[in-house]
Amino acid sequence: MPMTPAEARVNLSAIRENVALLRERSQGAETMAVVKSDGYGHGLAASARASLAGGATRLGTAYIREALALRAEGITAPVMAWIIPPGEPLEEAIVQGIDLSAGAVWLVDAIAEAAGRTGRTARVHLKVDTGIRRGGASGAEWPTLVERAMKRQVEGTVEVVGLWSHLACADMPGHPSIDIQLDAFDDAVAVAKRAGIGGSHVIRHLANSAAVLTLPRARYDMVRPGLAVFGLSPIPEMGDFGLRPAMTLVARIAMAKRVPAGAGVSYGHTYLTGRETTLGLVPLGYADGIMRHAGNLAEVFAGGRRHRVAGRVCMDQFVIDVGDDPLTEGDEVIVFGDGSLGEPTLQEWADSLGTITHEIVTRIGSRVPRVYH
Ligand SMILES: *Cc1c(COP(=O)(O)O)cnc(C)c1O
Repeated sequence: MPMTPAEARVNLSAIRENVALLRERSQGAETMAVVKSDGYGHGLAASARASLAGGATRLGTAYIREALALRAEGITAPVMAWIIPPGEPLEEAIVQGIDLSAGAVWLVDAIAEAAGRTGRTARVHLKVDTGIRRGGASGAEWPTLVERAMKRQVEGTVEVVGLWSHLACADMPGHPSIDIQLDAFDDAVAVAKRAGIGGSHVIRHLANSAAVLTLPRARYDMVRPGLAVFGLSPIPEMGDFGLRPAMTLVARIAMAKRVPAGAGVSYGHTYLTGRETTLGLVPLGYADGIMRHAGNLAEVFAGGRRHRVAGRVCMDQFVIDVGDDPLTEGDEVIVFGDGSLGEPTLQEWADSLGTITHEIVTRIGSRVPRVYH
């Protein structure tokens, strides 16, 4: 394999083990591994396969397009998609057996009509908004949504296979909204049951990674972890929960050179060398997902030591100052990894940049090949 300037190494056994750990924590509930946004940047199909190998029984994506991409990869496991604006390829999704979320009457109707055209029955999960106020029917609209779905079920175009919601503050254990949302969910399930939607084929699901790990009451029939599948902690203040980060981002030094003291580095000269020193050019930039804000702030690992990014991050490159350490072209730099060699973790990157790991890992650009091991 040719050397690439940079690559994201994805440890598939870490994904398998993380899913196995989450399964154990969810005590009998089914596990849907959420692999939206290209498997949180780790690669859609490989993440999906590793998750299934780890014991996930279903896959979740935001968009139908992502669910169809899983089918195109030959993945036949149950898949659900939940962000469905008007104009989406509903018929194709139904033909491909994708479970669809519906949180509004218009969408139940659109799905039913699309199913009618295909001659199949659409599998639908009704979504109730219990307090995050994104998608889903509000408590007031819920009975109408349930009634419409029932009507469509009787006519044979729709089968309700799930009832679901999403928590706003699961990563803030003890937040008062959590119990309020869980109570609202229980009420919504009861309303559906009275309308005739219930039984063991209708699964209830609510828990993201944080809830799987900290909220036994939220597990219901299935959990939907995403971040934790990839070994990243949903509640960093509570530690790593035994999860193992799956991605290591590496680059090879493109150029190394000695420069004198007082030399300005990169655009704007926001970094000045303190003395004669060796600079190394790292071939990754903000186009690859290294946030510009990381300049003079975040650290990488080279030659057995950590070095701060020197000066501004450019589109395709940034610079490190390694002092008198030996450094030559082709040397490997670890931007972040699981920390086992002393390299920064993605969590440390997120902390130093004032963001969350999700944001960094999902933005690693398409120029960076994902390499699986
Ligand atoms: C992204 C997402 C998840 C997974 O969330 P994590 O916090 O990454 O575990 C679960 N459910 C829905 C609806 C989502 O959009």
